[in-house]
Amino acid sequence: MSTASLPSRRVDAGFEVVGVRIASGGPLFVVAGPCSVESFEQYRAAAMAVHSAGADLLRGGAFKPRTSPYAFQGLGQEGLEIMRAVADELSMGVVTEALTVDDVPAITRYADMIQIGARNMANRPLLQAVADAGRPILLKRGMTAPVEELVTAAESLVGFGNEAVAVCERGSRTSEPSLRNTLDITAIAEMKLLSGLPVVVDPSHGTGRTDLVQAAACAGIAAGADGIMVEVHPHPARALSDGFQSLPTEDFTEFMRSVRSIAAAVGRET
Ligand code: PEP
Ligand code: MN
Repeated sequence: MSTASLPSRRVDAGFEVVGVRIASGGPLFVVAGPCSVESFEQYRAAAMAVHSAGADLLRGGAFKPRTSPYAFQGLGQEGLEIMRAVADELSMGVVTEALTVDDVPAITRYADMIQIGARNMANRPLLQAVADAGRPILLKRGMTAPVEELVTAAESLVGFGNEAVAVCERGSRTSEPSLRNTLDITAIAEMKLLSGLPVVVDPSHGTGRTDLVQAAACAGIAAGADGIMVEVHPHPARALSDGFQSLPTEDFTEFMRSVRSIAAAVGRET
């Protein structure tokens, strides 16, 4: 029986987001911040903490893809302004999600990388609009989408003329009742086999549980992920969205130490 080769460690040229190299096989990168921007004070506290612990890029939602009409829908334009002000203060890049085609012009003015969320992975008009915006793109796997469809959606972005694309494993719905989603470690290795694109692991949505986030991030790195996107909040118990899966800021230094040691163990620059 022949054995399949392990995902390649070939370093691709990749792309840069505000001085941070995002490349398949490149140095580990960490994107961190709260699920949603809730206020200037909340966002700044989260950003200062992740910056001082060594995160490379900030994240935060201004337009939130909520399934429930009762959930916090995001601050919209004000959220974009808060993220930009804090990112500039720290000289960092910021990643945020475009929920609709209408959001894309404002997001392009304020953000350095645009996220396409799980619920929109195969939304072609949105893919086209985000590709046309000319910003690097973080494309998340749909919650029940096969890996091949994620790779095809990423190929659409490249086909639309934007090659600065990273793909993200964020867990799938499974029959496990104790988890919001189950992080698909195999999919990370499969994404490396099927595409030359940088792969990001999202251990926050990938588990839905703060107490599992660090283990899931480490497993993702060991499986070949190039980067991590993780939710961090100064007061998770008071968060307006996803507090149950957010790391408290005081745990983030230990999180970074742990993922860096795994990255080093699998021969990755940190
Ligand atoms: C998020 O990153 O906050 C988010 C809503 O992610 P997903 O699209 O994976 O649910
Ligand atoms: Mn979230």
